[in-house]
Amino acid sequence: MTKEDLMVIGAGSGGVRAARIAASHGAKVAICEESRVGGTCVIRGCVPKKLLSYAAHFHEDFEDARGFGWEIETPRHDWSRLIANKDQEIDRLNGIYIKLLQNSGVQLLNGRGRIVDANTVMVGDEKIHAERILIAVGGRPFKPDVPGADLAITSDEAFHLEQLPERILVVGGGYIAVEFASIFNGLGVQVDLLYRGDLILRGFDDDMRRQAEEELTSKGINIIHEQTVSRIDGESGELKVSLSGGDVHDYGQVMYATGRSPYTWDLGLENAGVKLAENGSIPVSDDSQTNVPSIYAVGDVTDRINLTPVALMEGHALADSLFGGNPRLPNHDAVPAAVFMHPPISTVGLTQDEALAKYPKLRVYRSRFRALKHTLSGRQEFTVMKLIVDDASDRVVGIHVIGVDAAEIVQGFAVAVKAGLTKADFDSTVGIHPTSAEELVTMRTAEVVEA
Ligand code: NDP
Repeated sequence: MTKEDLMVIGAGSGGVRAARIAASHGAKVAICEESRVGGTCVIRGCVPKKLLSYAAHFHEDFEDARGFGWEIETPRHDWSRLIANKDQEIDRLNGIYIKLLQNSGVQLLNGRGRIVDANTVMVGDEKIHAERILIAVGGRPFKPDVPGADLAITSDEAFHLEQLPERILVVGGGYIAVEFASIFNGLGVQVDLLYRGDLILRGFDDDMRRQAEEELTSKGINIIHEQTVSRIDGESGELKVSLSGGDVHDYGQVMYATGRSPYTWDLGLENAGVKLAENGSIPVSDDSQTNVPSIYAVGDVTDRINLTPVALMEGHALADSLFGGNPRLPNHDAVPAAVFMHPPISTVGLTQDEALAKYPKLRVYRSRFRALKHTLSGRQEFTVMKLIVDDASDRVVGIHVIGVDAAEIVQGFAVAVKAGLTKADFDSTVGIHPTSAEELVTMRTAEVVEA
């Protein structure tokens, strides 16, 4: 039996960060992984998704180039080459993650970790005794229980399709659904997006949601609202999908993007008495401790804010607190986020509805315009920007952008929101001309909204 200060289960973003930082503070650390080191984000999430998203956007770039004088023969896309190149890059990153662990002196065990008791984990035949255990196992795609759902893919399989279908149904209206709808659409696939509600991207600011639907629709994505899948028949490549409204459609593929479930089954959590929430996630205190004092959890498995940079923050703060003599809490306020649809949405702080629930009077600044580039490209794509200001304090409490480079813009402005800067601070900042971002420091006309 080996003895460790920290045993980490799951080598994704949160687990690897916690392991490395704990080791750098002098702790003896082991980490186990049943799949590939790097986790969802690196292996089958953010990184490969963004590479596919770049690939899909070239479609528009070729079209836009014409307005700038370029004559381009109809370009042809090679999906197999894209996937091979993407896989090569993921292999490289996987290697870097393994090296990072090795260089920090963390022992990497290949295999699934199962908890035996509050201080013991089994990985295969190996028994590890640890002062503390960290669960960082992330989540897995969730498919609703519908007849024939096993014929449908999730984002996991979408990264490895042998060929693109002519027509696809993407089910869901959240991050993954709209991002993949844009990817497939850009690569020439006919896309239907099926959402059970009346406006996609629930939880985002309503102005962004409306604009998102307008943009996706104008690019040729067919959004079907207020319906679900009743059943799927056929075989892979030739699927018949019956919708709750009674229509039956043919698709080459169906992709579920209906959320992700915390990956807490078959981990032996019951052996140590770790409590789970109703949705299977592990509730933790502010410092990421479970109800069992020696067991901690970070990242998506805790279902706080399910984003890689948040898992990194949680893992890092935990390692500093336990082993670095620097107790500190992760801070989940004003976490910026982006949806990499075409065009992207990015946001930091409160939506208008959230702000109204907190502050009695708001000033809302809105701007809708075509980016300079599209005056020549002719593309009818609009950028919408929105600043939400608490009237009493003048603080900017929310920023929402949909348009080219939204995520790159909002990352910078997130510092201002996090720092609690006021609209007067924004007004006194000189813009960079000509950019889209300058709009965020030049908006002067507000709509007053009261609770
Ligand atoms: P989301 O929770 O964002 O969206 C799930 C969608 O599926 C919602 O539209 C939801 O509808 C719908 N849905 C849920 N259950 C059903 C059902 N039974 N039948 C029909 N529709 C259903 O999950 P995703 O899978 O898109 O992404 C998972 C998480 O991964 C995200 O929450 C995000 O934290 C993270 N992520 C982040 C990305 C980024 O930062 N760019 C990219 C991708 C993922 P309703 O709105 O009605 O609940």
